[in-house]
Amino acid sequence: MDEPLEKVPRDPADDFGSEAIARRRALAERAAGGALPHLAGAPVDPRTAAGNVENLIGYAQVPVGLAGPLRVVGAQGTYEVYVPLATTEGAMVASYSRGMAVARAAGGVRARVVKDGLSQHPMLVFEGFEAAVAARDVVAASFDELAAIASEDTRHGRLVSAVGEVVGRRLIVRLVFRTGDAIGINMAARATDRIARCLAERTGALECYVHGQDVEKRANQRALVEGRGRSVVAEVTLPAALVRERLRCEPSALAKIARSYAVGYTGLGTQNWTVQAANGLVALMIACGQDPAYVTESATGWLELEVTDAGELYAAVSLPSLLLGTVGGGSGKGTAAECLAILGASGAGKVERLAEVAGAMVLCGDLSLMASFVAGDFVSAHERLGRNRPGGSK
Ligand code: NAP
Repeated sequence: MDEPLEKVPRDPADDFGSEAIARRRALAERAAGGALPHLAGAPVDPRTAAGNVENLIGYAQVPVGLAGPLRVVGAQGTYEVYVPLATTEGAMVASYSRGMAVARAAGGVRARVVKDGLSQHPMLVFEGFEAAVAARDVVAASFDELAAIASEDTRHGRLVSAVGEVVGRRLIVRLVFRTGDAIGINMAARATDRIARCLAERTGALECYVHGQDVEKRANQRALVEGRGRSVVAEVTLPAALVRERLRCEPSALAKIARSYAVGYTGLGTQNWTVQAANGLVALMIACGQDPAYVTESATGWLELEVTDAGELYAAVSLPSLLLGTVGGGSGKGTAAECLAILGASGAGKVERLAEVAGAMVLCGDLSLMASFVAGDFVSAHERLGRNRPGGSK
């Protein structure tokens, strides 16, 4: 591993003064290996927004804070990063930072991408189920041809599986693509359009819908069970003394609250069994030029808190549907490019690192928030750091 990163400096007297901000930005610039002019306020060339927005009038400003350092034991080894988070929720960056400090003291978060595949689900409609079943066989027999169609106008998009699912007189075709370092939705959508038309023609379908079973940007059961995009697991084992000292509670109390939350989630029918995945993920997405609407799918997953036989706390999150890219979308532009540089996750070959960081970050945020629920300091932390009464009234 490189040199451990410095603690993020704070100034209790004037933490929002220019000096404190400059010290933190200098730290971020060292991590990024270059200047960060747009985070410092320099305007972005508006022409770079082409392809990302229409009828441009300007840029929304969302404050960016630095959480961390976060230590990740990833597929390529151990590394430390500061995590830029764009948010207006006071107390959130502090909460993630606390979790990251605790995990770091225990050696860091072990994180891995365990599956990779962007799915699309076009649908064909037939007169009756027999034709749908026959069409399913056509899909199975045509894989090589469909894969060739998918590769027609993309270098990085690749069809890796095609499976038909019969639902009455309809056939849902589950297509899964590898997409390189991009989310890949544009390349997959183009390929799906051509594949669906080809299958419709070949099977005599009465109707054909490219986004037939539209999983895109909605919480859904497939996101939890099958995964979409990058599937990440992240885990850490915390000694009991560390939990007591830094999280101010017992490992067993954390395991207990997690069980009760799970009971509560069962009644909700939610696909998000983490505590605050959406908070960190959407803040990371906005900072890093991702498409934040994908938080609906990305904040799908589980938190596990268990006491080991040795009395330690085992904590893990599984996030099966992280939709993130280090190439494409808004990732290469303005403040987004700078935030990805802070993470050491710019461009080709870096999406795995971004996904590992996202998973590790979610785990740290969940640990910290659960601990504050147990210790009873959740409300006081928000009162101290996160109130914005109009006019500053108390
Ligand atoms: P993209 O910016 O549309 O495509 C990425 C481009 O980068 C591709 O042209 C690809 O070329 C190229 N590329 C170069 N190096 C690459 C690498 N190492 N890995 C992957 N690609 C590489 O990005 P996208 O991820 O497909 O789409 C994301 C954007 O689509 C976001 O802005 C999102 O908001 C928007 N979006 C679209 C839809 C839709 O249905 N179309 C839906 C939701 C969101 P090759 O193709 O030749 O490989």
